[in-house]
Amino acid sequence: MGNPPSAPSPDVVLEVQDLVKYYPVKRGVVFKRTVGQVRAVDGVSLALRRGRTLGLVGESGSGKSTLAKVLVGVEQPTSGRILVDGIDVSAMKRAQRRELRRRIQLVFQDPYTALNPRMPAGEIVGEAYAIHPRLVPKGGRARAVRELFDLVGLNPDHVNRYPHQFSGGQRQRLGIARALAVKPQILICDEPVSALDVSIQGQVINLLERLQDELGLAYLFIAHDLAVVRHIADEVAVMYLGSVVERGTETEVYEQTRHPYTRALMSAVPLPDPSMRHRREEIVLSGDVPSPAAPPSGCRFHTRCWLAPLVAGAASDSADVTIDEPAAVPAVCRTDRPELLPQGPPDHLAACHFAEKLTENTTRAEAAR
Ligand code: ADP
Ligand code: MG
Repeated sequence: MGNPPSAPSPDVVLEVQDLVKYYPVKRGVVFKRTVGQVRAVDGVSLALRRGRTLGLVGESGSGKSTLAKVLVGVEQPTSGRILVDGIDVSAMKRAQRRELRRRIQLVFQDPYTALNPRMPAGEIVGEAYAIHPRLVPKGGRARAVRELFDLVGLNPDHVNRYPHQFSGGQRQRLGIARALAVKPQILICDEPVSALDVSIQGQVINLLERLQDELGLAYLFIAHDLAVVRHIADEVAVMYLGSVVERGTETEVYEQTRHPYTRALMSAVPLPDPSMRHRREEIVLSGDVPSPAAPPSGCRFHTRCWLAPLVAGAASDSADVTIDEPAAVPAVCRTDRPELLPQGPPDHLAACHFAEKLTENTTRAEAAR
């Protein structure tokens, strides 16, 4: 089952089509055999626009980091296509691929473990010049590193300090400087502020926004909650158990939420407009994300969905929805994997059999009707 391919567009710099990454589950001590598959990423389609930010949100274990690793080439996809400037990455020759690795850089989640503690900060930032020697001539590298320090708001006189001599926020600046050293076009930011104090998070996000304006970078900005992404993202994709369940512009996803999972994540986001607050119900999802080694049948969200039982309850005295006892979830939710389909605007997609029940700010009681 594939998501609808997006129309080729010159402003799309990175496109992912039906991307799949399975990890084998092995058993046995001497003779290892594969007994199953962890479906970490299971059919994701996304487009990243030049100079824009796509926010990717989902609980821990939904496959965000795996997707990031496939995009930067650390992991090979099981299937699916990655297109950069419209060119299929799998068809690229070695030299082209090395050039591609330069253009797509990763900013890590944890600035405490991502930096070699025994290397001076300046060497860490300039390390990639050894791999891409033609980028900056040898004699100009020390100056280039100092300029990078300045660019990300670090003191260029601190190039000889070691990572432990920097604060958490400064270390994330180092991580960003290192990614920028090779003059990339795309930054994959995997929860770049999750390990930082809330007071520091805003500074790092502001830095990323300024760098985007100055350098025209495209970002895939990964986070586990919607609040962090709202400020920076132009478009948002919400991932659950290996697939995208909703995606659209920031305004569409936040203000016209059409997937019950997104709605649940949204209920934790502070509302800017106080007059809307009485419309907001807190939705607490029960249980953890199921194992991607044994995902639920049909809609993968049906085991935790708050909407499906309401639809089933409302339909129990009418004949338009088949109810699957004992779970009291409409049968279709247990049997059919919903496709990502347009909801109103063509670029707002949601994968829910009952997405039409969720119109603007419907309360749970209204959705049940
Ligand atoms: P997220 O970043 O959204 O928290 P991850 O991509 O890290 O999610 O993980 C998605 C799922 O894939 C998890 O269940 C995780 O345990 C599993 N996974 C990640 N890497 C591996 C691996 N190398 N081998 C087996 N399973 C993995
Ligand atoms: Mg992760």
